Amino acid sequence: MKGALVGCGFFAQNQLHAWSEIEGVEIVALCDRDEDRLTQTGEAFGIARRYTDAAQMLAEGGFDFVDIATTVGTHRPLVELAAQHDLHVICQKPFAPTLRDARAMAQAVEATGKTFAIHENFRWQSALRHVIEEVRSGVIGTPFFGRVSFRSGYDVFSGQPYLAEGERFIIEDLGIHILDVARALFGDVDRITATTRRINPAIRGEDVATMLLAHSGGASSVVDCSYATQRVLETFPETLLEIDGTGGTLTLDAGYRLRVHTAEGTTQTELDPPLLSWAERPWHNIQESVLIFQRDFIAALREGRAPETAAADNLKTFALVEAAYLSAREGRTIAPDTL
Ligand code: NAD
Repeated sequence: MKGALVGCGFFAQNQLHAWSEIEGVEIVALCDRDEDRLTQTGEAFGIARRYTDAAQMLAEGGFDFVDIATTVGTHRPLVELAAQHDLHVICQKPFAPTLRDARAMAQAVEATGKTFAIHENFRWQSALRHVIEEVRSGVIGTPFFGRVSFRSGYDVFSGQPYLAEGERFIIEDLGIHILDVARALFGDVDRITATTRRINPAIRGEDVATMLLAHSGGASSVVDCSYATQRVLETFPETLLEIDGTGGTLTLDAGYRLRVHTAEGTTQTELDPPLLSWAERPWHNIQESVLIFQRDFIAALREGRAPETAAADNLKTFALVEAAYLSAREGRTIAPDTL
């Protein structure tokens, strides 16, 4: 299986490391508008075919899929270009600038019959995945309450300066991941209510969001995120969980510590993710999830099934993002299906 990657920036380095670990997959071409980044990345990963123009790279072809790792403003034209060339596509989150763009992109690839996945990796973090599987297996019965929480004071702006500049920040960048985790745990969402705040005066968008979700299956969840929280322990980039079910409770606490309490007793499991050879603390849980996500994408292609975070599924997560902003702006509860 051969792939090409567009956008050799901050996060793409993880994607390239992960591709190099997946058997039978080779990234044969790279593209970035920035020649320095293109050269550095090409040298680091030994990839000789390099382009500053994605259209040219796709016209020359010689690969089965394209991995789009640029920021959101270029996602739609690049996905549509990939569709014109009949390629399988992975596109980084957030899906698109608007839901309308996202739907058009999904339709463009669907019309080709090729596979289109969004690089939504949080639900693939091994600790979160362990909990998702436990909940789905019914260990604590049917969940009726959940909290999915990401609160930190970590400086994300030095590595990703664009995060300080956008009108939207935390829901679009980080909330999107934990809204997706809430969907993976408790199912689709009928209604969402959100509040937002900007605490850090040096950025444009909101850095605190608190969201209440009513899930179709009957559970309620609180999905909360902050990059304005100074605390001990600093838990970046961990997502913490608290789930009440009809047959017990479960918490995933700081340090990847899982506690499950049922009538049979209480168990504690340490879920600290492995430190891959190319990974660095504290990002190692995210880096591992990139590898697991990409493996699922390749397995899906080989098995002829949809990847778990296929575009069609991720449209529902993205609709929650749009609904959360609308709710916060207008001070009302939104049904994402109506958007
Ligand atoms: P970045 O700015 O560091 O890198 C983007 C690169 O894309 C740049 O090198 C830029 O020159 C290049 N580029 C932009 N448009 C291009 C085009 N049309 N053709 C060729 N090259 C182009 O950004 P980043 O921090 O790596 O983020 C990239 C994406 O990854 C964002 O959408 C971000 O939200 C996402 N991201 C995801 C995670 C995750 O956990 N899934 C984590 C961080 C970032």
